[in-house]
Amino acid sequence: MSRKKIVAGNWKMHKTLEESMALTTEIRGMVRDELRGDTQVILIPPFISLAGMARLLEGSAIAIGAQNCHWEDQGAYTGEISAGMIKSTGATYVLIGHSERRMYFGETNEQLAAKTKTVIRHGLKPIFCVGESQQEREDKTYFKVIEKQITEGLFHLDRKEFSSVVIAYEPVWAIGTGLTASPEDAQEIHHLIRKLVANYYNEEIADALSILYGGSVKPENAAQLFAMADIDGGLIGGASLKARDFIEICKAAR
Ligand code: PEP
Repeated sequence: MSRKKIVAGNWKMHKTLEESMALTTEIRGMVRDELRGDTQVILIPPFISLAGMARLLEGSAIAIGAQNCHWEDQGAYTGEISAGMIKSTGATYVLIGHSERRMYFGETNEQLAAKTKTVIRHGLKPIFCVGESQQEREDKTYFKVIEKQITEGLFHLDRKEFSSVVIAYEPVWAIGTGLTASPEDAQEIHHLIRKLVANYYNEEIADALSILYGGSVKPENAAQLFAMADIDGGLIGGASLKARDFIEICKAAR
């Protein structure tokens, strides 16, 4: 099955506008000169850099995405950003439900379901994040946790809507910790996710779904992870802030 390979760099709350432009210029050059194949590269900076980066990336195959968005189209929500605003910058993807949003900002599956719907209505593609905590892994409840996140967060979408979804499996214990899930453990969850989608929608939709792994991916471990049958690329945090590391990870997704 030839589904889309994707490597997305989540810059989190790093990089001023000027620094974002410099890193984008560096990555753009490396992608042009070194990346072969059709891996979709996505850069996900803080909101303030989206419009500038979109201009800088005109004519390049690199896409950009936002790290969050509100579920309403507009209104009295001080400090929030809407899907329409994100779309107007030239961004095409939006991260939904990153574990840091769930953990520090109390985002619930219900809110994430609403955000996902809104993002798709605006013609943007959600990268929907799921993953279990350390405790849930130890308690061996991780299958149930992920099933609930996916069922409550995504299964309100109809087939057409779901076809624009990307899922990122990010075990919380592996994010920014240097601990990575083994390729086999990650594959087990990716396979489960694909099965859930096949059971709820159908095989064809499940086969076409890109499922990314995230959690301390580095140039040294990327190829082994991306070689697994159901791992279609990665969502990269720390290593996406260094152009050389990021491009090596992108190359590993071929
Ligand atoms: C992330 O923030 O999505 C992430 C996977 O971070 P890191 O690669 O730093 O673990």
